Amino acid sequence: MKKIIAVDGPAGAGKSTISKICAARLGYTYIDTGAMYRAVALKVLQSGKDAVDVASDIQIELDEAARVFVDGRDVTNQIRTPEVSRAASDVAKIGFVRKRLTELQRQMAARGSVIMDGRDIGTQVLPNADLKIFLTASADERARRRFEELKAKGIAADIDNIREEIIARDKQDSEREIAPLAQAADAVPVDSTRMTIDEVVAEILRLAAC
Ligand code: C5P
Repeated sequence: MKKIIAVDGPAGAGKSTISKICAARLGYTYIDTGAMYRAVALKVLQSGKDAVDVASDIQIELDEAARVFVDGRDVTNQIRTPEVSRAASDVAKIGFVRKRLTELQRQMAARGSVIMDGRDIGTQVLPNADLKIFLTASADERARRRFEELKAKGIAADIDNIREEIIARDKQDSEREIAPLAQAADAVPVDSTRMTIDEVVAEILRLAAC
């Protein structure tokens, strides 16, 4: 069984949904690295401090229920706003922020069997991962899924705005100089556009068992 699994891909491809289910089925720890960039971004927005200062002393914890704590405070819901999404992509361009979070992510992965999702896990954070997945879906489908997610929570949203935001964030994440969103040469591409959640989970579990 593969012990260290890296899942990368663009915004809204279903990485966290799929990784969470796979981790539960395998009994592995799920590590959401996007939540860590979001945590730094939230603290920057709330404190008005520089991202480098924030990253140098922020305490980030992820618990087993995928809740996110910043300096001991539960920020799980607060980090999911569009404002924080944009700010996360901005702080993610800064070398010091990436260095600090990459160190933390490697320490978390060293504790045991993990599924870690993000943008640079297979290329930078865990280049020796036993299995690397590059999960994609068309921009239309990713926007549709986000829209349905928000609708289910009773939040009104405009699907065209969501699509534009996703495309803009992917562009910024793919074009940045340090650790851009990229498919590792040895990653297995999985296009989930026409797949159900169960089908994607089954495919990853099959690859993990090889
Ligand atoms: O995955 P999620 O959408 O929560 O990530 C938020 C942002 O954090 C991304 O748009 C990206 O800029 C940044 N990120 C990153 N590297 C990672 C995970 C996330 O740069 N490994």
